[in-house]
Amino acid sequence: MMHWSLKRQSSWVQLAGHQGNFQVSKGGEVLKLYSELEAKCLDSLMRDPLRPFVPQYYGLVTRGEHCYIRLEDLLNGLRRPVIMDCKMGVRTFQEEELIKAQTKPNLRSDMYQKMVKVDPSAPTAEEHEQKGVTKWRYLQWRDTTSSTSTLGFRIEGIMMEDGTVQRDFRKIHTLTQITEALLYFTRSQLDTLVNALRSSEFFRKHEVIGSSLLFVHDHSKASVWMIDFGKTMPLPDSKEVQHGIPWVEGNREDGYLIGLTSILTALSQAISL
Ligand code: ATP
Ligand code: MG
Ligand code: MG
Repeated sequence: MMHWSLKRQSSWVQLAGHQGNFQVSKGGEVLKLYSELEAKCLDSLMRDPLRPFVPQYYGLVTRGEHCYIRLEDLLNGLRRPVIMDCKMGVRTFQEEELIKAQTKPNLRSDMYQKMVKVDPSAPTAEEHEQKGVTKWRYLQWRDTTSSTSTLGFRIEGIMMEDGTVQRDFRKIHTLTQITEALLYFTRSQLDTLVNALRSSEFFRKHEVIGSSLLFVHDHSKASVWMIDFGKTMPLPDSKEVQHGIPWVEGNREDGYLIGLTSILTALSQAISL
């Protein structure tokens, strides 16, 4: 059984990411710290069949020293919402990051520490001795500790109706455990999303990394939203990806549809229980 670790303080909640990256704003907006890549994605998405699945994008604003992306607050007006963040894809690092990491064989003790914290038996004997791992090794290992590399998605967090938040899904591997967490959500909306993805030029032409599906519902309304395009890269000119075939380095595939299929399979099993 899951145990819920944190009480909600206010009606807005951030289930993942760096806590300093968001500001709640007036008028049904949230502000997310500016990233050029994400702003460009949101701009294209406002002209794509995926638009109904993406928070409305209102452009940029400066607050103090920082620039922010203005987004529709998906929780605005909801009472006691239930929220789940599923990070999509078979990997959460960009090929670019991997290539950069390959050229830097230096040992990282911070990454070694993080690794040991999750699983003391993960480092090899040599890595234990050196008290360090390469970033290349760390990036690849990280996604194998969750369901990311096997199922093509992982649950980053869930907030229940009573405001309790659970974020410790790092070690959830099996479909059965995930099925339990997904029971509340309907699949019809996901079928609609799959259709929109099929007709989306944006989706065909982008490597979608680290992006999430945010499931939100309250007593009257249930929605699924695509969020977080901070690592989503346009592909070179004529290149397209399929999103549903395995990743091998160089093919840029992200496994987004592998994840969506896993979620739909989990839901079908749950519904027929
Ligand atoms: P990551 O570590 O996953 O890269 P990030 O800093 O890029 O995180 P996001 O994943 O975009 O941030 O958002 C983090 C959390 O903030 C989400 O899980 C969700 O709970 C909340 N959130 C993001 N965008 C919105 C929105 N438009 N409306 C309401 N809540 C949002
Ligand atoms: Mg995220
Ligand atoms: Mg992100």
